[in-house]
Amino acid sequence: MAISVFSHASFVYTGEGIVNKEGRMLVPDDVSAIADGAIVCDSDKILWVGKTSELPAKYKKVKAMKLKGKRAIMPGLIDSHTHLVFAGSRAHEFARRCAGTTYQEIANEGGGILTTVKATREASIEQLFELAIKRALIAYRHGVRTIECKSGYGLDHESEIKCLKVIEHLKKAIPQMTFVSTYLGAHAIPPNVKKAKYIDEMIHQTLPEIKKKNLAEFCDVFVDEGYYSHQDGERILRAAKKLGLKTKIHADEMGNTESAHLAAKLEAHSADHLLKISNKGIAALAKADTVAGLLPGTAFYLKEAYAPARKMLDAGVRVAIATDFNPGSCYSLNLPLMMNLSALHMQMNSAEIFAGVTYSAAASLGREATKGALLPGFDSDFVVLPYDRFEEMYYRMGW
Ligand SMILES: [Zn+2]
Repeated sequence: MAISVFSHASFVYTGEGIVNKEGRMLVPDDVSAIADGAIVCDSDKILWVGKTSELPAKYKKVKAMKLKGKRAIMPGLIDSHTHLVFAGSRAHEFARRCAGTTYQEIANEGGGILTTVKATREASIEQLFELAIKRALIAYRHGVRTIECKSGYGLDHESEIKCLKVIEHLKKAIPQMTFVSTYLGAHAIPPNVKKAKYIDEMIHQTLPEIKKKNLAEFCDVFVDEGYYSHQDGERILRAAKKLGLKTKIHADEMGNTESAHLAAKLEAHSADHLLKISNKGIAALAKADTVAGLLPGTAFYLKEAYAPARKMLDAGVRVAIATDFNPGSCYSLNLPLMMNLSALHMQMNSAEIFAGVTYSAAASLGREATKGALLPGFDSDFVVLPYDRFEEMYYRMGW
C-alpha cells in the first residue's frame, strides 16, 4: 500500500491526552500538540506520528508533503448529530418567525415540521439524494470527515426506509467520508395517526426491516414534553437494542423529562441537546459512558439558553459538539461555527472543544477506537488545516 508522509506541520494535534482521559476533565495540553510534527500513513491507517526531526529513516525515502510550519494537522472533524436527509425549504417560515409569528402559530397552519414531512414524503429517493449529497459536501469543506445522519422526516414506514436508503447511497458516493446512519422514526408524532399505532409500526415493522437490510446502526428517540414519553422512549429503544442497534436520545431539550438519566440507564451512546438537564441527569451521565451531545447552534437559532456545559464538564461528563443541521431549528453545516459558540457561550476550553468534534464525537458514534485521534493504528483520517493552529478554526466566526 502506498505510504504518505506529511512533515514540518506547525503542529500535529494527536489528541493523545484526550484519549488517555477518555474525554473527561480535560485541560488545554490534552490536545497533545507536537510542534514541527510529522505523520506517516497508508490509505488505511496511521503508521507513525512524531517530530519531523525524529522521522524514522525508512520513511525519509518517501517524498514528503512539506507544510513549512504554516499548516497544522488534526483528526478529521466529526459532526455527530445531523438531520441531513429531507426535502423542502422553510425559509419563508423562518422570516415570519423572526418577524414575530410564533412557532405554534406556524405549526397550527400546518407548517413547521409538517412542511418538511410533506415535502420529504413526496420526494423521490433520487431527489433526496441530490439534496443530501450537496449538504454532505458542504460539511466536508468545513473539515468534517465523519457525519452522523438521521432519518425522521418521513414519519411512516415507507418514507423512513427511503431516507435511510439515501444514506446508504451517500456512503457509496463519497468514500472519503464516513456516514453513520440513525433511524429516528420517533422524531415527532405523524399527522393524523395515533401515537400508539405508530409506535407499534416502528417496533414491529420498521425496526425489523432496518435490521434485515442493515439500514441503520443507531436508533434515536425524541423524548420530550408533548412528543415521546420516557416510557415510549424506553420501549422503542429496548426493541432496537434487542435487534442489535445502538441507541441515542434527543433528551431534555424543551422540558426536563429525565431523559438524560434514561440514556445512561440504557447505556445509550449519547444523550443530545440537554438544555434542561437536571443535576440528577448530570450525575448519571458523569458515571456513564454516554456522551452529552451539545448543539449550541440550535440554542442560538431558537434564542434559548445554552446547555449547562460547564456544569457537565466539571462533573466529568464527556461532551461532543455537533451542528444538529436541520430545516427548523439549526440550518447550518458549519461545525467550526459551533466550536465558536461553545467557546463563547458554553465556556469550554480549547481541549474540550477539540475533543467535542474529535474523540468525544467519535465515542458518541462508537468509533473512538479508530477515529478522533492521530495515533498509530487509528484510521488515516485527518485534515491539513489552512492555519498554523487549530484555534484559528473557531476564532474565525462562521468563516
Ligand atoms: Zn436533532
